[in-house]
Amino acid sequence: MKDETKCLHSGYKPQNGGPGVMPIYQSTTFRFDSTAEIAAVFDDPTKAHIYSRFTNPTVDCVEKKIADLEHGIAAMCTTSGQASSLISILNIASSGDRILSTSAIYGGTVNLFSITLKKFGITVDFIDIDSNEDEIEKMIMPNTKAIFGETLTNPSLQIFDIEKFANVAHRNNIPLIVDNTFATPILCKPIDFGADIVIHSTTKYMDGHALQVGGVIVDSGKFDFTCGKFPDFTTPDESYHGTIYAKDYPNCPYIIKARMQLMRDFGCYPSGMSGFLLNLGLETMHLRMERYCKNGLSLAEFFKNHEKIESVNYPGLKTDKYYNLAQKYLPKGTSGVMSVTIKGGKQEAIKFMDKLKLASKEVHVADIRTCVLHPASATHRQLTDKQLADCGINPGLVRVSVGLENIEDIIEDFRQALA
Ligand SMILES: *Cc1c(COP(=O)(O)O)cnc(C)c1O
Repeated sequence: MKDETKCLHSGYKPQNGGPGVMPIYQSTTFRFDSTAEIAAVFDDPTKAHIYSRFTNPTVDCVEKKIADLEHGIAAMCTTSGQASSLISILNIASSGDRILSTSAIYGGTVNLFSITLKKFGITVDFIDIDSNEDEIEKMIMPNTKAIFGETLTNPSLQIFDIEKFANVAHRNNIPLIVDNTFATPILCKPIDFGADIVIHSTTKYMDGHALQVGGVIVDSGKFDFTCGKFPDFTTPDESYHGTIYAKDYPNCPYIIKARMQLMRDFGCYPSGMSGFLLNLGLETMHLRMERYCKNGLSLAEFFKNHEKIESVNYPGLKTDKYYNLAQKYLPKGTSGVMSVTIKGGKQEAIKFMDKLKLASKEVHVADIRTCVLHPASATHRQLTDKQLADCGINPGLVRVSVGLENIEDIIEDFRQALA
């Protein structure tokens, strides 16, 4: 099936006489006729649902749909994008290990990587997104367990050259993890370019309506965890009656381990109602992405020609530094997010934002309604000046997320605010 069809039909197949829409299983638990049957599910949790801390039938349908859209083999939802980032790493790295990440990533991920993971004993090394293969290779240590990057970086809108980083990762027998939040599988499927694990903050375009925070981790099923670097996959898990993930679940050991071990212990799993709402967003995602890209390009062109704007980052513009990479990885468009630098720095940027009438000032992005944010005073507020510069953020930078309003109304609002 093509993406438009998958958005509507993947994951849930109505039975004869059954509900046409995926039902909400809002139940913590599931009943069995015998103790033996419950024991059997404990032995092999892929057999049935037992408890909604780590699986739920409604969420399961959404997971299958997202895995299908991303060309993955399995997926696991989480209660936030942050939880997905955390679990995607903890599933393969533990105390004493390292991760290599590009420095241009979401501010919350920078904090997680540089502060919190350090307390877990995991060191994250940061590298410039534009580094060449030799420079990337030099940063890989014997205990480096994965490379991490964002397809379209938040908020600097740089493009992660997935194939380049995948080549280095695979030469070193480690997986590439890609945060595909801004692109969504409609605009880019990182697994097709060599990514092994894909994560999302579903809070953004997937949910699409600014209704609920959520995340997902997708396993390509392609990485060979028996390569010698990942003993947690090839030796018995004592906390799960000796399961050897790579041997007992050879098709998708990564997601099975994330669910049976980490989700069991952390319990950040969405409810049936949450799965239902996320699915509503997914059903129209392909239509919305098309319009975001169209409105985004029109607005970026307006900014580009405005005398009060110093620069625009939008890889869909022919003049953008990342235009060629965008043509390769996101040929259908580069989403509705852009960042603009207002002449005059921070004061002028804030003044401009406060004059907007239609566009809302809020801590969100990829909302159905046009919204703006000043990263240096909000999402990236906790970063040092050096970290800000590494993330591609200057004091006059405003992140603009174009919505689905009529583009003439959107442009008119920005025109009057700039005036
Ligand atoms: C928002 C965001 C996150 C964090 O997701 P939450 O759902 O807010 O926890 C991670 N990565 C990117 C690229 C994001 O935009």
